Amino acid sequence: MSIIEIKGLSKSYKAGVDALENIDLSVEKGQIYGIIGMSGAGKSTLVRCMNYLERPTKGTVTVDGRELGKLTESELREERRQIGMIFQHFNLLYQKNVIDNISFPLRIQGKSKDEAYKRARELLKEIGMEDKEKAYPAQLSGGQQQRVAIARALTANPKILLCDEATSALDPKTTQSILELLKKINEQYGITIVIITHQMSVVTKICTNVAIISEGHIVEKGTVKEVFGNPKAEETKELLRYADFEIGIEGGLR
Ligand code: ADP
Repeated sequence: MSIIEIKGLSKSYKAGVDALENIDLSVEKGQIYGIIGMSGAGKSTLVRCMNYLERPTKGTVTVDGRELGKLTESELREERRQIGMIFQHFNLLYQKNVIDNISFPLRIQGKSKDEAYKRARELLKEIGMEDKEKAYPAQLSGGQQQRVAIARALTANPKILLCDEATSALDPKTTQSILELLKKINEQYGITIVIITHQMSVVTKICTNVAIISEGHIVEKGTVKEVFGNPKAEETKELLRYADFEIGIEGGLR
C-alpha cells in the first residue's frame, strides 16, 4: 500500500476556478518524490492537501492507510505528527533559541523540558550543529536555519517529511548541503520525502520519482529516469530547457 495515496483531488479557492483538478498521485514508502512546476501551478496547494492544512474540495488523501477527510480534528492533529513539514523561509520562532525551537513541538505535546532537550540534542548532532544550541535564528545563516527547521520537523519521528520550496532561498552550495542532509535522513530513517520545487537541479540531485504539474494538472509522472530520460509532455520538455540554463548558472557561467 502506498504511504500517500491521492485520488481524484480537486481544490478551488473560489467558485469555478480550480487550483488543482482531478489529481491522482501515489507515493511509496521510502521514495523521495519531487513535484515540480512553474510558479502558480498548484504545488503548494497540493503539498498542503497532503496534511490537510488545506482541505480538498473533492477527492481523497490517504496517509498510511488513514483517509484524512474521515478523521476528527483531534485524530487529524495526531496524524499530522507523522508528517513533518519544512518551508522556504524556515518559519522558526525568532524569539527562541535553537534548542527551544527544536524542542517546541514536543513541549506543546506536553513532554518535559528534560525529555524534549534530550531529543533536541540528538537531532542537533544529526544536523551537525551541537555547538549552536543557545544561538538565536537571527545569528544563523540560511542553511543553518533550514537545518534547525529540519530537526524541528523530525522531533516526533515522522514517517513523512514534506518540503515546500525548502531550498529556494538558499545559494547553490548550501542547497547541495541541505539536499545531502535530506538524503541522509531518507536513507537512515526510511522517511518518505515529498519535495515541492521549481528547481530542476533539486529533482535530478535527490529525487527517485517526479510529477510535473502545470495549471493544476499532473501532466507527467514516473521515476526521474523515465520522465527526464524520455520526456513526453511539452511542459516537461520546457522544464528541461530551463534546466540547462539553471545548470549553467550553478556551474558559474553567469
Ligand atoms: P505554486 O505553489 O505552484 O506556486 P499555489 O498552489 O501557491 O502554486 O497556487 C495555485 C493557484 O491557487 C494560484 O492561482 C494561486 O493564486 C491560487 N491560490 C493559492 N493559495 C490561495 C489562497 N489561499 N486563496 C486563493 N487562491 C489561492
